[in-house]
Amino acid sequence: MTVSSSSGRISDGIHTRVLEPLYAEVLRRNPGETEFHQAAREVLETLGPVFADRPELVDARIVERLCEPERQLIFRVPWLDDRGRTQINRGFRVEFNSALGPYKGGLRFHPSVNLGIVKFLGFEQIFKNALTGMPIGGGKGGSDFDPKNRSDNEIMRFCQSFMLELYRHLGEYTDVPAGDIGVGSREVGYLFGQYRRITNRHESGVLTGKGLNWGGAQARTEATGYGCVMFTAEMLRARGLELEGKRVSISGSGNVAIYAAEKAQQLGATVISCSDSSGYIVDDKGVDLELLKQLKEVERGRISEYVERRGPHARFVSGSSVWEVPCDVALPCATQNELDEDDAVTLVRNGVIAVAEGANMPATPEAVRVLQEAGVAFAPGKAANAGGVATSALEMQQNASRDSWTFAYTEQRLSEIMRHIHDSSHRTAERYGQPGNYVVGANIAGFEIVADAMLAQGLI
Ligand code: NDP
Repeated sequence: MTVSSSSGRISDGIHTRVLEPLYAEVLRRNPGETEFHQAAREVLETLGPVFADRPELVDARIVERLCEPERQLIFRVPWLDDRGRTQINRGFRVEFNSALGPYKGGLRFHPSVNLGIVKFLGFEQIFKNALTGMPIGGGKGGSDFDPKNRSDNEIMRFCQSFMLELYRHLGEYTDVPAGDIGVGSREVGYLFGQYRRITNRHESGVLTGKGLNWGGAQARTEATGYGCVMFTAEMLRARGLELEGKRVSISGSGNVAIYAAEKAQQLGATVISCSDSSGYIVDDKGVDLELLKQLKEVERGRISEYVERRGPHARFVSGSSVWEVPCDVALPCATQNELDEDDAVTLVRNGVIAVAEGANMPATPEAVRVLQEAGVAFAPGKAANAGGVATSALEMQQNASRDSWTFAYTEQRLSEIMRHIHDSSHRTAERYGQPGNYVVGANIAGFEIVADAMLAQGLI
């Protein structure tokens, strides 16, 4: 597989001389890590114009250094299930880049987690965190532990064992994890409790996504979904359009999906569908958020149960893609590579005008190409879902000053940050001759911030 140029301004020379060998080296050094390859390729494809303008970045081998994590940890997580049987999982933390601040990025608990997935997420996180303008580096972690159908006690024992190893690598100035798939406020609570017990320190800034009465920030739970919709609204505004009155389809029904739905409804859109890994629901009257939250956040049930309680205007479709539902705006908020080329073709055929990635890398490269060629406004995850980590940085700020802000103030800060990310991605794409291409804009804007910090700090 080769790295292709996505800009007419990239000279073939830079491409074959710098980017192709660089990508070949990523493949050689990280065998089998397909998601990491995909994430690295997606960034490399857009950097040609920067290298053409700034040869000092090539000479300092900034990208080679960026592609090599500063530290990678893999560890055993033994724990006892409710029947007293020994269980063994694998834990990961990839501390990718700390040029801008402590490593920052969530923990994912899902059976699919492996080193390649953690590295793709950590790599994305470097540029996303830079885009927020906050002082945070990039990292990610997790485990192949499957929290589904586990009791609270099992979750607690797993989290305690996970932290018993991870704690020595964390600290508010070193590495600050948060949630991701399978890790919400319950898990962050158990992780924080164990950290506090081992270290004998109530170090609030060591984890984000905490409960509101023990160091958490207002609006952190809502931030990723809200931010994604705020970014979508900005993107539509840049085209002279608005979100109000639009039909929105969302994948997933977890943290990001639920609060994307909530903000979309607040801005006057109708959310007609959402999903989980078993299928999707369509609700022509608009998704009932209170019911969805009760089902997913409290009862931890399946999406099909929504239909049983909602009545005849809602229906459940098992095992199919939510992207077959006609909509104006699509927000993939579940997981990586969940929206493929066929889905993109279907969305375009059904008249979609905007797609914003609430999840990390949910659209495959082929899907992104289809959407962009059809003129659909497309927002990559590292810009559109940066509201979560940005609000985590606001949580760290409040912890450092022993302060806590109101919901309204925090949401206002989030909204300013999302506008800033939109505008800098938009401006950067224009500066490099790709107006409206948020993939190019976000990659280059994030890259330049980190690259400049790395250059200034010397060869480390
Ligand atoms: P949750 O665990 O809260 O929810 C994940 C949702 O996605 C669930 O509805 C889950 O369904 C569904 N899902 C997961 N895997 C699959 C799959 N293979 N096929 C179909 N559906 C699937 O996670 P979050 O909402 O926190 O995270 C969602 C995405 O957003 C991830 O990509 C994450 O990296 C990204 N993200 C999250 C942030 C945050 O603040 N939480 C910040 C930035 C990005 P089921 O229950 O059936 O598995």
